[in-house]
Amino acid sequence: MTRLDSAIRRLTAQRDLLDWASRAIGPAGLVLEIGLGNGRTYDHLRDRLPGRAIYVFERAPAAHPDCYPPEGYLIVGDLFDTLPPFIERHGRGSAALIHIDIGTGDEDANLSLARRLSPLLESLLQAGGILLGDRAFSMPSCRDISADTKVPEGRYFVYQRE
Ligand code: SAM
Repeated sequence: MTRLDSAIRRLTAQRDLLDWASRAIGPAGLVLEIGLGNGRTYDHLRDRLPGRAIYVFERAPAAHPDCYPPEGYLIVGDLFDTLPPFIERHGRGSAALIHIDIGTGDEDANLSLARRLSPLLESLLQAGGILLGDRAFSMPSCRDISADTKVPEGRYFVYQRE
């Protein structure tokens, strides 16, 4: 597989899962996009979930100008500084859907980041809430349902809070 094939497969998995999760979640609860990047997946989510409150987290906003959330919905800063006050403000179990795409090429750093973020993300998910991630997370109260989706193993990770 070429790097181009691999990139296409990853983006296809990402889009298919965002579409699937947008249909699967219930009507109540926040949607969180973690890692705005250039805004591609945020743009997709807001298109698939019109009218829904989507909060976006990013430490260094540099998205395409058309892909910024409305005022009040972009939370700027490092996740370890911004997520705890967000949880305090909105409450544990306030999110119906979390999409997190923040990995880098440094696998050790990715593992450590996922380990530290897992309890914060887990506490935000409501019962039945879904997390889509570009990597594995360790969330004991969630079921790994990646295999129930049509996405090839290891390409993207899907969890549902019990
Ligand atoms: N899904 C996005 C898209 O489709 O355009 C791409 C996201 S990009 C791969 C990852 C983003 O996560 C980067 O913009 C980076 O600045 C942000 N990020 C990574 N670690 C972060 C952290 N600890 N706190 C806040 N933002 C972070």
